[in-house]
Amino acid sequence: MSRLTGKVAIVTGAGRGIGRSIAEVFAREGATVVATSRGSDADQLGGRRGIEYHQLDVSKDQDWQRVVGGVLERHGRVDVLANNAGIIAYQPVHELTVEDWERVVAINQTGTWLGMRAVLPTMMGQGSGSIINVSSIWGSAAVAGGHAYHATKGAVRNMSKNAAITYAKDGIRVNSLHPGFINTPLTDAQDPDVNDYVVGQTPMGRAGKPEEIAQGAVFLASDDSSFMTGAELVIDGGYLAQ
Ligand code: NAP
Repeated sequence: MSRLTGKVAIVTGAGRGIGRSIAEVFAREGATVVATSRGSDADQLGGRRGIEYHQLDVSKDQDWQRVVGGVLERHGRVDVLANNAGIIAYQPVHELTVEDWERVVAINQTGTWLGMRAVLPTMMGQGSGSIINVSSIWGSAAVAGGHAYHATKGAVRNMSKNAAITYAKDGIRVNSLHPGFINTPLTDAQDPDVNDYVVGQTPMGRAGKPEEIAQGAVFLASDDSSFMTGAELVIDGGYLAQ
C-alpha cells in the first residue's frame, strides 16, 4: 500500500518547484491532492491521476474559505496541509520598503497562518491531521540581506511549534520543513554568485532537487511520522550542521 492512500491533501504554491513536486509525489503515494497556486501555472496539474487544481492566493482569507469549503463538499475531510507557497526578497534592513516587507509577510507568514486557521476546525473534528509548514535553512540561520525572508521563515518555524503544542491533544501534528538550496525557478532567477556561494557552502557540494524535499513532506504527511510534532525536518545537504 502507498504511504498516503486514503488521505486528502492540500498543497499550496504547487505551480512549480518544490510545491509541484510535493503534489506529484503525494499523488504517487495515493493521496487525493488538491494542488493550488495563485496563478494558472498549476492548472496543467489538474486532471492528472489523483490531482485536482484550484486557484488559491494564500494571503487571501476568502480564497482559503472557498478552497477548503469546496474540498469538504467534494471529499468530506482534510488530512494534510502543505503550506509551501513562498516568495523571496533580498533587501537588507535599511533598503527594505514597507511595501516589500508587507508583501513578503503577507504570503510567507500570514498565508501560513490563514492556511492553518482554515483547516484546523476540520482536523479537530476528525481528531487527526498533519500540517507541514515550509520554512527554510534561513528560518534558523542567517546570510546577509534578505531580512524579510529571514523574518518570515523564522516566524514559520516558531508558529509551527506553537500550533503543534496547542493542537497535540486533538491528534493534529504540525512540523516545519527546512530545505537548503534547491534547484527551482525561484533559485534559477537568483544572482548566480549568490547561488554559487550557498552551494559552495553546502557540505554535500551540490544543490538539492525538489523531489528530495517532497520525500520529506511525504514522511511528515504519512503515519510513518505519527510521534513527530513541533519538529524541524532539515533537508539541506548538511548546511545547518556546520
Ligand atoms: P518557486 O519555484 O518560486 O515556486 C513558488 C510557488 O509559490 C509558485 O507556484 C508560485 O506560483 C506560488 N506562490 C507565490 N505566491 C503565492 C501566493 N500568494 N499564493 C499562492 N501561491 C503563491 O519557489 P520554490 O523554490 O519551489 O519554493 C517553495 C517554498 O520553499 C517556498 O516557501 C520557499 O521559501 C521555500 N524554500 C525554497 C528553497 C529553494 O532553494 N528553492 C529553499 C528553502 C525554502 P504563482 O507565482 O503562480 O502564485
